[in-house]
Amino acid sequence: MSFKIDVVTKIIKERLTNYETKSYSYDIGKIISVGDGIAIVSGLDKAMSMELVVFEDGNYGMVMNLEEHFVGVVILGEENSIKEGQVVKRTGRIIEVPVGDGLLGRVVDSLGNPIDDLGEIKNDGYMPIEKVAPGVMSRLTVKQPLKTGIKIIDSLIPIGKGQRELIIGDRQTGKTALAIDTIINQKGQNVKCVYVAIGQKASNVALVREKLKIHNSLSYTTIVMASASSNAPMQFIAPYSGCAIAEYWLNKGEDVLIVYDDLSKHAVSYRTVSLLLRRPPGREAYPGDVFYLHSRLLERACKLNEKHGSGSISALPIIETQAGDISAYIPTNVISITDGQIFLQSELFNKGIRPAVDSGLSVSRVGSNAQSKIIKKLSSSLKLSLAQYNELLSFTQFGSELDSVSKNILESGAKLVELLKQKQYKPLSNEDIALSLFAYKYNFLNDIDISLISKYEEELHLYFKNNHQDIILDLAQDVLNEEEIKIAVSVFTKDFKLKNGILNV
Ligand code: ATP
Ligand code: MG
Repeated sequence: MSFKIDVVTKIIKERLTNYETKSYSYDIGKIISVGDGIAIVSGLDKAMSMELVVFEDGNYGMVMNLEEHFVGVVILGEENSIKEGQVVKRTGRIIEVPVGDGLLGRVVDSLGNPIDDLGEIKNDGYMPIEKVAPGVMSRLTVKQPLKTGIKIIDSLIPIGKGQRELIIGDRQTGKTALAIDTIINQKGQNVKCVYVAIGQKASNVALVREKLKIHNSLSYTTIVMASASSNAPMQFIAPYSGCAIAEYWLNKGEDVLIVYDDLSKHAVSYRTVSLLLRRPPGREAYPGDVFYLHSRLLERACKLNEKHGSGSISALPIIETQAGDISAYIPTNVISITDGQIFLQSELFNKGIRPAVDSGLSVSRVGSNAQSKIIKKLSSSLKLSLAQYNELLSFTQFGSELDSVSKNILESGAKLVELLKQKQYKPLSNEDIALSLFAYKYNFLNDIDISLISKYEEELHLYFKNNHQDIILDLAQDVLNEEEIKIAVSVFTKDFKLKNGILNV
């Protein structure tokens, strides 16, 4: 008899253990309360952070708060038909997005669904939107240039592949314009681009798409959009989704450029989600981990070594400041995470100096390793000249008499500022930038009036294109044959001066 009891106990014990593991009771929960895009769900004890769950009406949610007796789920989509008491199912998957070349030329939402009326997207698989960034051992230093085609950036604040360079400035200072021009300049460079629009008006994003299309740049670009009308959780996950899409190409050894436009609105969406989830607010009501929000995102930008396929993700996050205050909470966070910043000033923008880059406050901490040799050589003294010019400029406001040296600095500085102006959607090739810098460095602009500088520059580029393909080819290969270029530029300059009445025959 005692033998039988043992057997029965064993069987019961076995069944009990199996019962637990086989049970689905942990995978189905019930909504306790719902409101403001948040559902509090009980019974999902095994849910993971950022896991996707499905509501009864087929809508998705994302698990964010893991508490002892319930989880906080943010609703990704409409919450109208989600009611208290309904069932919620776990999917066992961290949120993922479709990835692959099929996404190029498309506009998708934060979950990778197409929103551009071009039909279904053929994807090559899925990638989780949250991923631990590549470790130190799999990385290389930044040493290949990522050319923006913008004179002042490529010469003074050069960016390298794998770098994270912040674009920061007040509203309407040309932040988006810089990023879009950089995307346009990647044409034919084998760099795929991802533009993540967070909390912007959908009409603005449509305009960006249109401009990329006109400049034949949509075919290598994916736009991820969580517009101002999307709910906060969709805005919050958009940059991570964009990064996952980029990581697919990174893993294939390709180069990718990703633009986050902008992370200020991203931080606000995270604050909204956190406050709704009743997480304790900290400084400026942002939750305590708002630094981690951006650091874990930007850390995923990298240059991988050969063993890992040599791919790269370069990131251009954008931050909007209030009245030029770069020492506010979110701006300082992102400044400290990135490898440098391009600071845009409303004052310069309104004076017509566009791109309105403040050369004093802008810096690229790693990019000069990646800068092309010729541009490095030709731009070596530019920063100093600009600094001297700006300093003297403030003096002249007091109306003081100036000596001839100061007058020279002012005159040549003003010409440099004029030369560094650049129109939107007109990124220049490295060769053209080199020619412009060359003309300035060797004083060919001396007798040319400021009003003629942009004309001079345009014609100079054209002259070389038509007459000196050999020099252009040399420049493209990073070879600077100064004597040869000097002769050619002086021939052109003389001709230009004659034509414009600066020199008489
Ligand atoms: P927001 O804060 O609204 O996002 P932003 O800082 O992204 O603005 P943009 O939208 O890029 O600024 O540019 C503002 C305006 O300035 C646009 O009308 C744009 O066409 C113009 N602009 C930007 N850069 C240049 C430029 N280099 N030359 C001429 N116009 C420019
Ligand atoms: Mg913008």
